[in-house]
Amino acid sequence: MVADLIDGKAIAEALRRDIANEVAALAGQGIKPGLAVVLVGEDPASQVYVRNKAKQTVEAGMASFEHRLDAGTSEAELLALVERLNADPAVDGILVQLPLPPQIDATRVLRAIDPAKDADGFHPINVGLIATGAGGLAPCTPLGSMMLIRSVKPDPTGLEAVIVGRSNIVGKPMIQLLLGAGCTVTVAHSRTVDLPSVCRRADILVAAVGRAEMIRGEWIKPGAIVIDVGINRVQGAEGKSRLVGDVAFAEARAVAGAITPVPGGVGPMTIACLLANTLQAAKARRGLG
Ligand code: NDP
Repeated sequence: MVADLIDGKAIAEALRRDIANEVAALAGQGIKPGLAVVLVGEDPASQVYVRNKAKQTVEAGMASFEHRLDAGTSEAELLALVERLNADPAVDGILVQLPLPPQIDATRVLRAIDPAKDADGFHPINVGLIATGAGGLAPCTPLGSMMLIRSVKPDPTGLEAVIVGRSNIVGKPMIQLLLGAGCTVTVAHSRTVDLPSVCRRADILVAAVGRAEMIRGEWIKPGAIVIDVGINRVQGAEGKSRLVGDVAFAEARAVAGAITPVPGGVGPMTIACLLANTLQAAKARRGLG
């Protein structure tokens, strides 16, 4: 058996096209959704993310507001900016790029964002709304992962889902989305006993660990849907670095029914879902959603 590839790049492109069409329709009503992205400091990976986010925001027809602050910015200054963005009617989504420098308490900053503009879905109000199935904005990576699962299995009701990883950004919100979709959900983490056996139960396996190729082919149930969230840089042949996921891809592909590649799987969905959240926020704030 060779698993089908879940083409996150193509699915993200289709999502961005749908978003652009909806944004164009809103323009007829004089509405232009806007996303503000705040970057503090010079972290090179964050700079790339922020640039890509801004580019794709503009391509979708939305307004992009970039705020680049120097690494020495105080927490009070950042909170003041968040307050201004909360009050700015042109801004529908606010994203503060993580990580933040050590003098700033990220939790305090994320909690200062108006939940109605919380494009990343990290505010406790949105965490609670998603957990209770009462709407809200879901974190982008789990939201995108769920879309990839539904691209293979539109109705996953009753399937056994195993998530490896329990971070607030990926693992925990993934629990709620899979539960909401009717799956029986197990969450594994670094203290889980006999991880291979737990993984083998999964009809849907979501790997969000941050350890290169940790999940082996023999841990996978034949025919399972495998969503590899991990992004790990490893040294390849000739000293060149390359990206790999948390799943040993070639082994897993020989057993699974469908699998996401790294890169080109979950990664492209994350920014597309950020745009989807901004659009959702823009509509909800105007009573259209
Ligand atoms: P965290 O480091 O916050 O969480 C990792 C989780 O994996 C923890 O819950 C940890 O358990 C668990 N874990 C660590 N080692 C083991 C082990 N040996 N066995 C079982 N579980 C283990 O990572 P994130 O959730 O932020 O990210 C996970 C991966 O996803 C990373 O590679 C990251 O780069 C990638 N990522 C990709 C995104 C995308 O857009 N594609 C977006 C966000 C992240 P414990 O809690 O017990 O410590």
